[in-house]
Amino acid sequence: MKKLFAFLVVLGMFLTSANADDLLKTVQNRGVLKAGVKYDFPPFGFVNAKGQVVGFDIDLIKYIAKKLGVKPEFTQVTSKTRIAMVQSGTVDIAAASMTHKVKRDLPIDFTISYYFDGQSILARKDCKAKSYKDFSGKRVGVIQGATSGDNFKKVCPKVKLVYFQEYPQAIMALKRGKIDAVSTDYTWCATQAKNSHGQFKVIGKPFTFEPYGMGVRENESNFRDAVNFAIQDAVRDGTYQRLYKKWFGTEPNRLPEVWPK
Ligand code: GLU
Repeated sequence: MKKLFAFLVVLGMFLTSANADDLLKTVQNRGVLKAGVKYDFPPFGFVNAKGQVVGFDIDLIKYIAKKLGVKPEFTQVTSKTRIAMVQSGTVDIAAASMTHKVKRDLPIDFTISYYFDGQSILARKDCKAKSYKDFSGKRVGVIQGATSGDNFKKVCPKVKLVYFQEYPQAIMALKRGKIDAVSTDYTWCATQAKNSHGQFKVIGKPFTFEPYGMGVRENESNFRDAVNFAIQDAVRDGTYQRLYKKWFGTEPNRLPEVWPK
């Protein structure tokens, strides 16, 4: 009897720990997908005039949550905090305009690439520069935790980088003439230029490759599979293309890969 009891206790521990170890099961038992998204990076994640958190990343998460049979819950992350927030389990997933870099893949895992961008430059309309080469000795605003600072230094070693915590602070500094440009992914730059009513413009052509992946907890292959399958379902059923058009105003120039069933 004692032995049977001990066996059941051990079995119970094994089963609960196996359960708790599987993020997909945890999320489904909880009924909620905790997603980290940007509040400052339109059109991927931002707060609209009505105070709602919206964007391409938000809509994709809503779709993924539905596929997992759970409700999405959004938490703000920044370029600087997103990886740590996935690592600590504060969020299950970060859909936050995040470039999938080999270096970033050490502490966490990534989904398949779901958007393809490249770094660009936003400047005031009177700026004479034609490309990143013209920013030697100039002050360029970049965001902490983003790929942009290191990327810019590589192509223009004499640039003076000015670091900001969040994107709106960089825009404000650009408006006030405290910096000569802001550099980050093209889609954000183009969105800012468009919304600025002629105040800002985009300089030159994108000069890096920034494939976006969603950050997920390390070694959770069931969860990562489920999210990857959901992203691919969105492409298969046309939701991805519809959301792309909704947020970027064009047809996708490249689709995420879709594995045959
Ligand atoms: N995609 C780039 C990065 O992951 C820049 C955009 C951002 O700050 O999220 O660093």
